[in-house]
Amino acid sequence: MARYTGPVCRLCRREGTKLYLKGDRCYTDKCALSRRNYAPGQHGQRRTKLTNHGVQLREKQKVRRYYGVLEGQFNKYYDMASKQQGVTGENFLKILERRFDNIVFRLGLATSRAEARQLVVHGHFKINGKKADIPSMLLNVGDVIEVVEKSRASAKFKALVENHKATAPQWLSVDAENLQGKVIAEPSREDIELPIEEHLIVEWYSK
Ligand code: SF4
Repeated sequence: MARYTGPVCRLCRREGTKLYLKGDRCYTDKCALSRRNYAPGQHGQRRTKLTNHGVQLREKQKVRRYYGVLEGQFNKYYDMASKQQGVTGENFLKILERRFDNIVFRLGLATSRAEARQLVVHGHFKINGKKADIPSMLLNVGDVIEVVEKSRASAKFKALVENHKATAPQWLSVDAENLQGKVIAEPSREDIELPIEEHLIVEWYSK
């Protein structure tokens, strides 16, 4: 299961926007983007005007990094979205939202998508009563996610029960006390609050 292992703050600096990849740190003044708001590398402070192609590429890369998905998988999701009925850009974002790791994050059971991915891989969750450890699984309406018994006593999840701020989007329900969540509807475009212009991604793939 491949994943990006380089310095993540560099990705935010490359995209020129907060991607919230480091959990709580992203909301403090330790955020690298607040300190150095320019692209990484020797020529990072040079002003460059992007071409249309460049703007589309940056939007695609930004979304890929928000969700922590590698290029090949991202292309597959786009392929799936383009074969579905409806607006391709919206279909695409909805597929990304339905990823298991994203849902763990959206339920407030992890502080970032990266942490959610790690918790999933380490086997801390069950789906519909069965152990599940594949972050890229796409969940469906009715699926129930819960923390496995043996993980409930860990400091991480105990703290979560005590401090959980239940702010799950409308398409999910969360029962923080029982470390459980459920997919109650399909995500809608309005539920995705990230600053994304998906039409640029569609234009990128339509060439
Ligand atoms: Fe991005 Fe978070 Fe690093 Fe800030 S602290 S640059 S938002 S990953």
